[in-house]
Amino acid sequence: MSLRLYDTRTRTVRPLEPVRSGHVGVYVCGPTVQAAPHVGHLRSAVALDVLHRWLLTRGESVTFVRNVTDVDDKIIHDAAHNDEPWWALSNRMTRAFDDAYDAVQVLRPTIDPRVTGHLPQIIALIERIIERGHAYASGGDVYLAVRSAPDYGVLSNQSLDALQASDKAVPHGHTGEKRDLLDFALWKGAKEGEPSWPSPWGPGRPGWHIECSAMAVEYLGEEFDVHAGGLDLVFPHHENEVAQSTCAGHPFARLWLHHGLVNAGGGEKMSKSLGNSITVADALTTTRPQVLRYGLGAAHYRSSMEWSAQVAAEAEAAYGRIETFVRNASEATAGVEPGEPKASWDEFAAALDDDLGVPQALAVVHSGVRAGNALLAAGELPALAATLAVVRRMLSVLALDPVEQWPGSTRELTPVVDGLVALAVEARAQARTRKDWAQADAIRDRLTAAGIVLEDTADGVRWRIQ
Ligand SMILES: [Zn+2]
Repeated sequence: MSLRLYDTRTRTVRPLEPVRSGHVGVYVCGPTVQAAPHVGHLRSAVALDVLHRWLLTRGESVTFVRNVTDVDDKIIHDAAHNDEPWWALSNRMTRAFDDAYDAVQVLRPTIDPRVTGHLPQIIALIERIIERGHAYASGGDVYLAVRSAPDYGVLSNQSLDALQASDKAVPHGHTGEKRDLLDFALWKGAKEGEPSWPSPWGPGRPGWHIECSAMAVEYLGEEFDVHAGGLDLVFPHHENEVAQSTCAGHPFARLWLHHGLVNAGGGEKMSKSLGNSITVADALTTTRPQVLRYGLGAAHYRSSMEWSAQVAAEAEAAYGRIETFVRNASEATAGVEPGEPKASWDEFAAALDDDLGVPQALAVVHSGVRAGNALLAAGELPALAATLAVVRRMLSVLALDPVEQWPGSTRELTPVVDGLVALAVEARAQARTRKDWAQADAIRDRLTAAGIVLEDTADGVRWRIQ
């Protein structure tokens, strides 16, 4: 395939070579549904949505799996704090995440499996790892024996000795005793008052890492193409996924793709626990969803970025130039036969093929917009029609086409319509004052014909759309 991606494991940009030609399986570590989504979550979704859409544009059939971690320590803790059941909190937040993804037109995944729906697969995988001698039960828990795993540290490029020396490397246990500080829990024995499921090792629940190893294999097979997630997941989460899966004898992911994080200013990662996050709902009160999508997607997926009022304003200005061009060019070229375009699809495609180079791809879009504006000014309509078509095809890949993907900007039009209706209402009131009933009725009829209904209320005249 012509698409090349940066692979964290080999630390090189290399061609994506699918296990099955014509089909690409992608597994994304989705959210832990503990609290409302913030713009960092959305940046992750938009970055990987570009991968999803580009694969589809290239004619691949894609199985896109994004899991939902719907039970974990943080959810249990926060739900207890809110005095609501853990499952109610995770259900509520799963919906909030879906709404946020929908708001910026992130394609729905092929499947979004939940941990709580995959206990049999998780337990079977743990049993397999134990049988192969790489995990052991202890006091109701099960631990992976890290020193028995081949090449542990290969993904995050760390040696076992360096890990042993650093306390960040020691994932905490639960109730049992670990044989080695480096070992991590595959299964956590139940604690008082916590949700639990029956297992061969007693009641408990899965450790965080094992869910992804189990669900990826369930939907994509023992070997699949791309495993993706945020840079903050490389260690320990993804390193542990590699260890579990290799210990189970699964080749697992061929390519590991990691995106950068959103900083809240001062280089600090945006996160709920740091209390510096901007929720998607808040961002959408000041920024149009298409502009949020543009702004979050404009930086290269591997770079870290900030989200601020200034970044939003720059995105509004840049996307506004695209919208204005598409609107003006569409009006000018209605019914015109296209000629030779002054925008290059090949350059755009080459940019995306090169490790999803969205900044370069957007530069090609903007250069097409500038060329199109010049054609519009010169009245060269056939070339303009062709340029518009190419620019819209590029925008469509990025889910930024103002016509197809973001039709009808009702948010912007509401104040305009308000002003116009107020004008008509005033004219009608003046007609009534001078007892010109025919004119007053005519104004009302014209408004009715336009689909606007006037209601005379005690607080004055109100309008609504029929
Ligand atoms: Zn995961």
